[in-house]
Amino acid sequence: MQVYKFGGASIATPERMTALLPIIAEAQKPLLVVVSALGKTTNALEEVVKVAFKGDKQKADDLIKQLEEQHAAYCSALLQGEALDAIQDELHLIFTEMQWAVDTAPQYAYDYVYDQIVSLGELISTSIFSHYLKAQQLSNAWVDARDLVRTNNNYRDALVDEAFTTKQVKDKLLPLFNQYSVVITQGFIGCTDENYSTTLGREGSDYSAALFASMLPASGVTIWKDVEGLLNADPKLFPNTIKIQQISFYEVIEMAYYGAQVIHPKTIKPLHNHNIPLYVKCFLDKGLPGTIIKNEVETAYPPIIVLKKNQILLKITSKDYSFVTEDKLSELYTIFHQHKVKINLLQNAAISLIACVDNNLDKVEPLIAALSQNYQIRRNEDAELLTVRHYDQATFKELIKDRKVLLEQKSRVTVQVVTSNF
Ligand code: ASP
Ligand code: MG
Repeated sequence: MQVYKFGGASIATPERMTALLPIIAEAQKPLLVVVSALGKTTNALEEVVKVAFKGDKQKADDLIKQLEEQHAAYCSALLQGEALDAIQDELHLIFTEMQWAVDTAPQYAYDYVYDQIVSLGELISTSIFSHYLKAQQLSNAWVDARDLVRTNNNYRDALVDEAFTTKQVKDKLLPLFNQYSVVITQGFIGCTDENYSTTLGREGSDYSAALFASMLPASGVTIWKDVEGLLNADPKLFPNTIKIQQISFYEVIEMAYYGAQVIHPKTIKPLHNHNIPLYVKCFLDKGLPGTIIKNEVETAYPPIIVLKKNQILLKITSKDYSFVTEDKLSELYTIFHQHKVKINLLQNAAISLIACVDNNLDKVEPLIAALSQNYQIRRNEDAELLTVRHYDQATFKELIKDRKVLLEQKSRVTVQVVTSNF
């Protein structure tokens, strides 16, 4: 059993979807195909939700109409005759549901409505994909991931009930493979025990693919991307990047944690726990070897560079000069936790704590207000967090030569610096 995950970019246009046909046809079977929404549909749906909540009904209706037309044009480029009629009918039902969710939106909580609307992007893309493959004589079953993935009702970042979901996967998904060698489902979405749709956090379909793989279980997961594989740095930010052929789960989880937008950070745990290798391959050229991510790797790594932008450095000093020891630390951590602010780098001193966090003002301002009761806060905005694993002095020096270093932490393998932008 294999799991393939196709992201939005791989199906952004009808031509791209067409190009996936040989990838699926030649794959080892049985195959579970996990798909996210077409192109930037998720962003467009987020906009629909925003506008609906602003009460701008006309604008929301226009946006839905535009999306429906775009999807209809996409389908017309891929399908004809009865197959086209069938998918247009299905899409019409989904867009009617969307319209209904928009019309009733203001009665409900934002995050709840978000999930009811945004989850439809994956239902649309998978319906199209399934119909397209069938029209190309590639028989497949389509399954609604909401019948498999049970979550709590923490909308927009729902927590998966793994025990229940495993049972559903065994009872409902696995038997489909007795009849079909290819099954298609959605990434990113789940459902509460009250049958409300949920989403697992942006870019969550990698995570869905890993969960399904661990529950089936599958012997491998392949994420198809528009790049050659994992690189040692973001090529948009750094020159001379190197493609990594093999890398451990440990290394990837560290990279993701420090801010590399390679693979959704939650993806690694289920794969590591079940020892299932993850392949990252390029859908633009399936012949390229890509990257293998697995438990044990015996090669040395090049320096791996991750830059997390848009950071704020907070210096938190106790007003009455009391020491910041264990009791105070736990109090401070609780405040961060309550405000859902993740600390990306931490350093403590006698009466102060320095924390580097994402500069998300919606969360940081209330956090600062809460901390300000007992602490004096100094902030350094426009900061960036640069992490280099497997560093060597020369590479590190070169990387920081034009930066103003505000804070530096080094261990044998990792160096991290917070630098200010100027
Ligand atoms: N479509 C969702 C998103 O764009 C999930 C995913 O792509 O993984 O966030
Ligand atoms: Mg996407």
